Amino acid sequence: MNKFYGIIRNRIIPVTLAAIALMLFFTGCRSIGYYVSHSAKGDKSMYNKLTLEEENVIVNKGTEMPFSGKYVNFKEDGTYTCKRCGAELYKSPDKFDSHCGWPSFDDAIPDAVKRIPDADGVRTEIVCANCGAHLGHVFEGEGLTSKDTRYCVNSISLNFKPESESKEETSTGQKADAGNKYEKAIFAGGCFWGVEYQFQKTPGVISTTVGYTGGHVDDPTYKQVCSGETGEAEAIEVVFDPSKTTYENLAKLFFEIHDFTQVNRQGPDIGEQYRSEIFYTNDDQKIVAEKLIAILKDKGYKVATKVTKAGKFWSAEDYHQDYYEKAGKTPECHVYKKIF
Ligand SMILES: [Zn+2]
Repeated sequence: MNKFYGIIRNRIIPVTLAAIALMLFFTGCRSIGYYVSHSAKGDKSMYNKLTLEEENVIVNKGTEMPFSGKYVNFKEDGTYTCKRCGAELYKSPDKFDSHCGWPSFDDAIPDAVKRIPDADGVRTEIVCANCGAHLGHVFEGEGLTSKDTRYCVNSISLNFKPESESKEETSTGQKADAGNKYEKAIFAGGCFWGVEYQFQKTPGVISTTVGYTGGHVDDPTYKQVCSGETGEAEAIEVVFDPSKTTYENLAKLFFEIHDFTQVNRQGPDIGEQYRSEIFYTNDDQKIVAEKLIAILKDKGYKVATKVTKAGKFWSAEDYHQDYYEKAGKTPECHVYKKIF
């Protein structure tokens, strides 16, 4: 597949849609493109590194395309944090469906979000109270919820912490086993767009993130990974609910949506970054992965899939996230084929 063509094509359609949506939603999160200086209180050395796309919204106060963001239709329990400084901003119970194309909340965590007059002289801009990152705008008097407030926030300005992780962090140093209800799985099976598409549709999967892992470069870019010099593999991180599905189910799905007999390639995608590899996050996952590989070998398959202890997983650039969902297409490179 030609990804670069895909990326260009994926941008032209949203740009047209966005132009229409921006006219319709006159009071929405429109970008005026102003550069407004603000004083950030946070320790800048602690900020997360931003991609150009993230910087365009968070620093330069741009606006992501409506209906394009990761959290527009996202409904999991947890906390939304600032992409740049990590401060907690919004809680999932305050999120509501406003149909405006951006994640909407009718309340914020106390003192976490600061309101400032927008440079357009009309709207009210919202920024992270800790670091000044641009989040979007706030509107009142629309009568959408009982609180009569709509914080209209760019997905790209946010990160999300599932309920279980929040509990784990707030407990006083002790791991909250009871509250830790979700588990992570990491798979590399060729172009991560298609792998993510297949896992997103699976019951019990809470969230998916495409990214890079298994190499030797910190926070690599897509371009670096494509060069084949980083050792990183295109991979996806799946957060799942073990009460609704099992790691074994997910690992079986992984084998059933890609060609695990190919070495360092998936069809037209050739290179080490397209290798088949399971990165286990605990010993139980390792046992399951090895068991499934043994079953496949018994069935006569030559299995190229490596099984490796998970290291750091680097989230890929935003335009790679939910690629097929955003593009409204289905992958040709990752098609389900029953084996087990
Ligand atoms: Zn912040």
